[in-house]
Amino acid sequence: MKMSNKVIVIGAGAAGNMAAGVAAENGADVLLLERNEKIARKVMITGKGRCNVTNNVSDVQEFISNIPGNGRFLYGSFSAFNSQDVIDFFEDYGVKLKVERGNRVFPESDKAVDIVDALNRYITDSGVKRKTERVTKIVADNGCVKGVETESGNFYEADAVIVATGGLSYPKTGSSGDGYSFARDLGHTVTELRPSLSALICREGLCSECMGLSLKNVAIKVFDTKKKKEIYDDFGEMLFTHFGVSGPMILSASAHMRDMVKERYEIYIDLKPALSNEKLDARILRDFADNSNKSISNVLGLLLPKSLISPVLRMSQIKASEKVNQITKEMRMNLVNTIKSLKLTVLDFNDITEAIVTSGGVKISEINPKTMESKLCEGLYFAGEVIDCDGYTGGFNLQIAFSTGHLAGTSASNKFSEESYYD
Ligand SMILES: Cc1cc2nc3c(=O)[nH]c(=O)nc-3n(C[C@H](O)[C@H](O)[C@H](O)COP(=O)(O)OP(=O)(O)OC[C@H]3O[C@@H](n4cnc5c(N)ncnc54)[C@H](O)[C@@H]3O)c2cc1C
Repeated sequence: MKMSNKVIVIGAGAAGNMAAGVAAENGADVLLLERNEKIARKVMITGKGRCNVTNNVSDVQEFISNIPGNGRFLYGSFSAFNSQDVIDFFEDYGVKLKVERGNRVFPESDKAVDIVDALNRYITDSGVKRKTERVTKIVADNGCVKGVETESGNFYEADAVIVATGGLSYPKTGSSGDGYSFARDLGHTVTELRPSLSALICREGLCSECMGLSLKNVAIKVFDTKKKKEIYDDFGEMLFTHFGVSGPMILSASAHMRDMVKERYEIYIDLKPALSNEKLDARILRDFADNSNKSISNVLGLLLPKSLISPVLRMSQIKASEKVNQITKEMRMNLVNTIKSLKLTVLDFNDITEAIVTSGGVKISEINPKTMESKLCEGLYFAGEVIDCDGYTGGFNLQIAFSTGHLAGTSASNKFSEESYYD
């Protein structure tokens, strides 16, 4: 009969802490190996330091519809540990939560550190042993996990190893993609790693001209030129950068660009969504009437931020020095159309190291969705962003980490108790 039930968890992020805590609660002897002194450094910076810890969706289908990257794979893990379970978990640990727009759940304190502290207390209370070491290799023999080697030259024996090393973004937090190499070395396929929830590089020079300009209460539409259809629309905030566009609305839009090919996607910004074309025209005519001898670039200052005036005029084919009393109806129509539908052509995502999540990862068909165990190597489990799953903004990515982490931890500990029962 097998007495020891040694589980090693690699990575103390959202998924790893959950996995380690659950496995230890189930009686496993758990060693959590994290390369950083402090746990969950990425969780600390989530939601701009406020941590959008989950999304308050009750229904599994609704959850899956918010996971464009392989949502169905998460059916089992989400059903076993869903958003309400995450909410209950943190509230049991004394973190009061609140629900904001779009069912986004945050700590009432608006402090991500409260979530990290709760995870810390959870692993401590459940008896997880923790060491600050970077794992360099998972050792397996005959398709069966044996343990891990670390950078400091140690070997730790294990019956089960849970890889919870995160994705490729924000590598300074410790998530630099080690788990993908571990998976490949053990025969797994790692699908193409791409940024998601990312800033976008655009062709138009207007982005660098307007660099630093933040727009609030604007609307965007994203058009897929290959499928010839609109794939996304949103209302909110965005920002111009030296390379293109960023900000909450753009990050969300980027997750819908599943096949990034240069110039495939176009963004149309409505700078005045509260006004119809007719109302905007009437407003412009009023401004013109009040300032008939001034140049158009001066008068547009009443309507647009300063840095947008030149690009908007250029795109409307109107000279900046043109007096408003010289503007024809056709020129005015061009102006209205530009303001209501300012076109940007997307060339690429910004660098993956600056994305919110990594899309792609360990191939889901090689992982058992009911346990998170590898189908290729016994005793090897995956949890969190290292798996080829990614969600939209709104707390879905942390929920993926908690659901898969919880299932991996439960399965890794149960596997051996079941074995010992039959031995
Ligand atoms: C700026 C930013 C804001 C975000 N905001 C939100 C949000 O508000 N809501 C949301 O749902 N999602 C958000 N996300 C996404 C979310 O943080 C991640 O999807 C989630 O943290 C993934 O959890 P994980 O446990 O898989 O990986 P991580 O949380 O990245 O943890 C992986 C851990 O593994 C450790 N590690 C890696 N390699 C090794 C190794 N070889 N040995 C030992 N340790 C190792 C790392 O140091 C790290 O601690 C945000 C991401 C970013 C970058």
